[in-house]
Amino acid sequence: MPKLSKKLSVKIVTLFPGFVENFVESFGIVKRAVKLRLLDLKAVNLRSFGLGPRQSVDDRPYGGGVGMVLRPDVLCRAINRLKQKNPAARKMQRIILLSPQGKPFTQKDAQRLARYSSLVLVCGRYEGFDERVRSFVDEELSVGDYVLMGGELPALVVSEAVMRLKPGVLGKDESADRESFAEGLLEYPQYTKPEILKDGKKKLVVPAVLRSGNHQKIAAWRLAESIKRTEKRRPDIFKKTNVL
Ligand code: SAM
Repeated sequence: MPKLSKKLSVKIVTLFPGFVENFVESFGIVKRAVKLRLLDLKAVNLRSFGLGPRQSVDDRPYGGGVGMVLRPDVLCRAINRLKQKNPAARKMQRIILLSPQGKPFTQKDAQRLARYSSLVLVCGRYEGFDERVRSFVDEELSVGDYVLMGGELPALVVSEAVMRLKPGVLGKDESADRESFAEGLLEYPQYTKPEILKDGKKKLVVPAVLRSGNHQKIAAWRLAESIKRTEKRRPDIFKKTNVL
């Protein structure tokens, strides 16, 4: 596993570069990270590696069946163009296929990937990829047990989860280390103003301990609430936590 690197380069191989460009343009934190050169997030248009005058990227599946499959030679050319040639730089790079058949992506994966300085995220479309592409990547990730139309949203999910762990990407008022999953527990309940929320007969009050000013008591309450909440909502991760 490489040492944590400060900067992150993400290249998203896609047939729809606009997804990535809009993402970078639309979100203040991402734009700021790019401006500060903490992050380099770019789309790589798979079409530009396509074949023939129509820059074709897909074909019908061998054996028959519906839909089109992305060609391995086209994907391979794109991946090889982005693969670091220098062995030291290659060690700091991870090439990832987005696929519903991949390993389910978790916060632990985000923490692991944040140690790399370069991610190449390869998005599928249509019926997915020719099987042989799998031997050109380092790993395969899924964002959940459902099927989307393309890998762009999954690639942005992975990028966002990783980039926010890099030092300096989040503003000083935000922190990535006290959140859900960071310590194997869900986050405690959060409250802000007003102190009393009234709606018809309903009256919801901020817990007194949070208004007490006693930091030790607040920390103890938050930990107890995190534990209760995790046990109730996510018994699967509660069983694995070592915080207790
Ligand atoms: N035929 C493929 C299968 O059954 O495994 C699904 C292809 S899907 C319609 C098209 C592309 O969307 C995939 O190649 C992948 O890149 C992306 N995709 C869809 N669902 C995903 C998920 N849950 N996680 C990651 N990528 C996903």
